[in-house]
Amino acid sequence: MFGVYDNKDGGGWNTTKDAYTSFVARPDRGKSAFFNNGGTAPRGSYQRGGFGGSGNSRWVEESRDDEDWSKPTQANERLEQELFAGGNTGINFDNYDDIPVEATGQNCPHHIDSFQDVEMGEIIMSNIALTRYTRPTPVQKYAIPIIKNKRDLMACAQTGSGKTAAFLLPVLSQIYTEGPGEALAAQKSGGQDNGKYGRRKQYPLALVLAPTRELALQIYEEARKFAYRSRVRPCVVYGGADIGQQIRDLERGCHLLVATPGRLVDMMERGKIGLDYCNYLVLDEADRMLDMGFEPQIRRIVEQDTMPPKGIRQTMMFSATFPKEIQILARDFLEEYIFLAVGRVGSTSENITQKVVWVEDGDKRSFLLDLLNATGKNSLTLVFVETKKGADALEDFLYREGYACTSIHGDRSQRDREEALHQFRSGRCPILVATAVAARGLDISNVKHVINFDLPSDIEEYVHRIGRTGRVGNLGLATSFFNDKNGNITKDLLDILVEAKQEVPSWLESLAYEHQHKRNYSHQGGVDWWGN
Ligand code: AMP
Repeated sequence: MFGVYDNKDGGGWNTTKDAYTSFVARPDRGKSAFFNNGGTAPRGSYQRGGFGGSGNSRWVEESRDDEDWSKPTQANERLEQELFAGGNTGINFDNYDDIPVEATGQNCPHHIDSFQDVEMGEIIMSNIALTRYTRPTPVQKYAIPIIKNKRDLMACAQTGSGKTAAFLLPVLSQIYTEGPGEALAAQKSGGQDNGKYGRRKQYPLALVLAPTRELALQIYEEARKFAYRSRVRPCVVYGGADIGQQIRDLERGCHLLVATPGRLVDMMERGKIGLDYCNYLVLDEADRMLDMGFEPQIRRIVEQDTMPPKGIRQTMMFSATFPKEIQILARDFLEEYIFLAVGRVGSTSENITQKVVWVEDGDKRSFLLDLLNATGKNSLTLVFVETKKGADALEDFLYREGYACTSIHGDRSQRDREEALHQFRSGRCPILVATAVAARGLDISNVKHVINFDLPSDIEEYVHRIGRTGRVGNLGLATSFFNDKNGNITKDLLDILVEAKQEVPSWLESLAYEHQHKRNYSHQGGVDWWGN
């Protein structure tokens, strides 16, 4: 199905508003661009309750080869409300403009300063206006022209930098310009199973791989915005949720697929997805995906199936850090790529005030209460703990103490996690207790305070965690409880604090010195001071 779709809620068409007013006009295109169906009812037949008995409705429409994908389809007021109601949350970009960006590589396209500096077509421009993104973030300024110029990209940028739109805008813009191409024919013929509509294998034109369901969902939501009034239907698949429902959704059409690697392999093996025409590949939070052990699945998807090879497809990788494993992946997946470093790779933003305090395990709870009282009841606070059991216990404790809080960890069901996230985001439960894995990639842009109730053992995880605050130009606070169990992170933590021009407690400096000294000693045959 390549027709206009109702995007989730079965709302169908709305002819009461033609959205002409919300369009960012381009001088070379006339009004008729909006009414490529002549302003009349759409082609196709309407089917109700096609699957799952969930009351879903869908448009079934035979796709036509002469459809112009670059022209906006008709507006749908209800959908528009749903997609764009959230608006922009008072982001302060003035702090953001100072973030240094470095682009390296042969013939690097020049960066843009405004969205108008690059030709992205009517659909994208009107959707940018609807999202109220007034100007590009630093990563967008560089990545958009690089991707528009069909170059491969390796970008070191954190979640919160605006990286999702940095790849979605140019990729979707290219798809709108180029149309479905050969995928359309494959969809019509080869992909059919028993000739029955609705059993077709889907051939997405673009694939975005992400490490967690939460991040995948966020990317999908952003994709729905920029696919509004287009013929592109975004889909999302991730583990831990009913596969049948995801398959039924795919069968309604899938041109841009957001997926976690394990679930995608499953879908491919079931013959539901073919990557033969996938000319755009994005790996988001690539370092996280490798940390989580997804490399075999990623290689299976990219190298051992039917995806066009590098050089033919366009590939973009985003990663907060750039360790050796990522460099190898970039070498294997990318062709003559541009390397983009946003801020300093591996460093943390100066927008975040980092505090490290010495707190013995037995004092952590009362110290936490003091901090919560000091920050104020309504500011969003994210508390990291080491274990799932620890998360439950701390949530119970805070609840008993009268705090509105919730928790998110690997043992909680998908529904519970989404519900918890919703309660947190909406401010109904402004305290979220989380384990690191469960919190990965979450886009919670206005967190005031990140508290490391338990510090992680590696510094990259620390950088990721505190990156949940001070995002997209806002100021944030990160407090970490440190005691003698955290010896192994001492030196790296000190380096990070110094690099980000933060206050360094003198005890941390002496510990780091002692640690280094003892290490040298132990390398000469002595005993490691930290007992490891
Ligand atoms: P990301 O790094 O993609 O997770 O984006 C972080 C947040 O910034 C998201 O909530 C986006 O909606 C928002 N955002 C992205 N680009 C812009 C922009 N140019 N102007 C305003 N907000 C933006």
